[in-house]
Amino acid sequence: MMQVFMPLNFLGFVYREIKGSLTNIENMFSLLAQTSPVQQAEDAQLLSIEQAEVRFENVCFSYKSGREILNNLSFVVPGGKKVAIVGPSGAGKSTITKLLYCFYNLNQGRILIDGQATESLTFDSVRQQIGIVPQDTVLFNTSILENVRYGNLNASDEHVLQAIKDAQLAQFIASLPEGVNTEVGERGLKLSGGEKQRVAIARTLLKNSAIFIFDEATSSLDSHNEAAIMATLQSVSKGRTTLVIAHRLSTIIDADAILFLDQGQLKEQGTHTQLLAQNGAYAALWRAQSNQH
Ligand code: ATP
Repeated sequence: MMQVFMPLNFLGFVYREIKGSLTNIENMFSLLAQTSPVQQAEDAQLLSIEQAEVRFENVCFSYKSGREILNNLSFVVPGGKKVAIVGPSGAGKSTITKLLYCFYNLNQGRILIDGQATESLTFDSVRQQIGIVPQDTVLFNTSILENVRYGNLNASDEHVLQAIKDAQLAQFIASLPEGVNTEVGERGLKLSGGEKQRVAIARTLLKNSAIFIFDEATSSLDSHNEAAIMATLQSVSKGRTTLVIAHRLSTIIDADAILFLDQGQLKEQGTHTQLLAQNGAYAALWRAQSNQH
């Protein structure tokens, strides 16, 4: 059953890259038939998790030759800590999460999880330890309950309902005509961006992986959804290695470290307070966003 979920988990990533609707399970299988450009090593090992430290070591990457997207990028997310990546649109933030998820081969450098290079590991064993909340969450034409259960197809109803509660979805669901059995997706009820992201958070809670990636939606959320997402984000990331791709800096001021990425290069890094004191690009972005409120 878990094998079925693994590809499902990266649907959010490929979603934006593929035209057309993917909200039927049948369509999903045609998507899975598309070959990923990445090749797993023949003697690939299983990932063994200890602290769940994530380390990028001199990573260079381009989708197409001649246009480098990540340029000699190095950083560490210590086990159990929360690191945020910020920077202008197109800086390469989402690309980092795709590489960690073994979706592409690196041009140069290594990505290590607890000291094990991902290129030497089975992709399934890596993906099993990564829970992702992508910018665009894929909802299938089925009930909310079943949509959340994709996080762990073996989960009992009781566990699914707990994840829904922990993702602050209970109140919203109580307002629906058929509660958790309400059909959602293209042919059912349309959920807002924030509601969809909370479904994705509930899936991730069920998956209970060692590493959590939250790719914040660029679209603006109403303050209720934003507050609910922040609260769930905090509970999911507690004690779990967390990488947050953030657009609204107000959501990551508590991160253990913030990396400011520009044109695939790390320009600044530190805590929110340190970066403000540094008075560079991060501080300028913070001032610009503060003035919008
Ligand atoms: P945003 O904040 O807008 O989400 P980002 O910092 O996450 O941006 P990425 O999505 O990582 O940026 O994209 C980095 C660059 O790579 C962009 O110029 C983008 O156009 C390009 N890119 C992303 N995906 C692909 C792809 N599948 N093929 C080719 N180029 C791509």
